[in-house]
Amino acid sequence: MRPTQAKRIRRLASFIMAAFLLCELLIVTVVSAQPKFASKSSAAVAQQKRDPGRFPMRPAKPARNPQISKIVTEIDPKNIERTIRKLVSFGTRNTLSDQNDPNRGIGAARDWLYAEFQQAAAQSGGRMTVEKQTFEQPKAARVPQPTMLTNIVATLKGTQAESANRVYVVSGHYDSMCSSPSDAKCDAPGANDDASGTAAVLEMARVMAKYQFDATIVFMTVPGEEQGLLGATHFAEEAKKSNTDIEAMFTNDIIGSSLGGNGLHDPHTVRVFSEGVPSNETPQEAMTRRSVGGENDSTSRQLARFIKEVGEQYVTSMKVWMIYRRDRYGRGGDHQPFLERGYAAVRFTEPNENYQHQHQNVRIQDGIQYGDLPQFDDFNYIADVARVNAAALAALASAPARPKNVTFPSGLANDTPIKWDANKEPDLAGYEIVWRDTTEATWTHSQSVGNVQTFTMKGMSKDNFFFGVRAVDKEGNRSPVTYPRQAPRAPRTDQPAQPSP
Ligand SMILES: [Zn+2]
Repeated sequence: MRPTQAKRIRRLASFIMAAFLLCELLIVTVVSAQPKFASKSSAAVAQQKRDPGRFPMRPAKPARNPQISKIVTEIDPKNIERTIRKLVSFGTRNTLSDQNDPNRGIGAARDWLYAEFQQAAAQSGGRMTVEKQTFEQPKAARVPQPTMLTNIVATLKGTQAESANRVYVVSGHYDSMCSSPSDAKCDAPGANDDASGTAAVLEMARVMAKYQFDATIVFMTVPGEEQGLLGATHFAEEAKKSNTDIEAMFTNDIIGSSLGGNGLHDPHTVRVFSEGVPSNETPQEAMTRRSVGGENDSTSRQLARFIKEVGEQYVTSMKVWMIYRRDRYGRGGDHQPFLERGYAAVRFTEPNENYQHQHQNVRIQDGIQYGDLPQFDDFNYIADVARVNAAALAALASAPARPKNVTFPSGLANDTPIKWDANKEPDLAGYEIVWRDTTEATWTHSQSVGNVQTFTMKGMSKDNFFFGVRAVDKEGNRSPVTYPRQAPRAPRTDQPAQPSP
């Protein structure tokens, strides 16, 4: 053979070899891409879909905490009505209104509320303290000149040393407005927006001050909501600066009416708004979430699920309607400044609003009564919403903290190991793993795993389910669920740096 001919044959041979190898590779890929369960019977597949994992659903409801049942029954609609009528009697509670008139304006409302919370604190055996958190609000969009604002903050200190620094905040705003947010003279009764939320918070403080909780509860009522969430922003910012561990915040805003402008009468539903993607998510966290999901599993969303479970357990006449968004279209609330600072927070609101009764000058026009008047409030309904709040707050403050630093150790496997930090409460009993199909709205399954810091879900891939962990104490009080985050990817030579296709 001539050298060129030999070269050509060698080239042909290596081409055939390469083509053969490519075919081989394709066949292997296609075979291995067949679903593993393809060989299983279709009945087995159907069974797996019905019952993800091999564990049965948790039997019915968790044990009742008798203290929470008592608190719920002690909430009194008559007290709520009295508070609302008193707040309305101040004529206006616009944040820019008179601060010194004892009978009319926001100053009168502030001083009356402060005295009422002090009366509640008198029943607490010294555990509740009441503070006027006053600050000067600089000029802002709806604040034409620097104005003093005062949050009324009643703190019921937790009695367990390991939990007393864990704080739950419940809030309503005591300011009001008529059609114009900067009109400080018009009548602005604000019977629903937001005397209803303020009255609910005061009633919870009055009832709950007598009871002891492991963790701390703050009952708060703030001004400046209609001026741009100013009181709540100040509180949240101060909390952030002092590294206060606020584990949850509830705002109650427009919880007054069971009759909507759409004619629907529904005294058995309260909406709980929770955001899915955290307001303070970092670009790194966003990248991870886009890769593996979790847009339905923020701490606020876990909080909403907790409120639904506990609220409906203790207030059986009420349905907690979880709304999977931060707030209504074009609207905001005092939970936002907390969300923006990384705290879990939700908003409680009536199910159907009536816009003729919100942010309107009191008037009759074309035979229609406009304005936020007490005659449109349903005091029994507000009491029920307060009961849902109180049950959830009491359950949170009685339970251990939600588990911290919950992660999936990195690695590819069909078993799912989960690990977390140990809780420090002395009455901790252990932990539960919860899970659900990725398209389920709420947790469907749970398994008690004992007092351990790591557990492996055998035969269940983290690719196929959402998992979470919650802590349980010896009396059966459960924390909200913590959704695991992906452990930072350690550089490894046996794994690709980018996710494999
Ligand atoms: Zn409001």
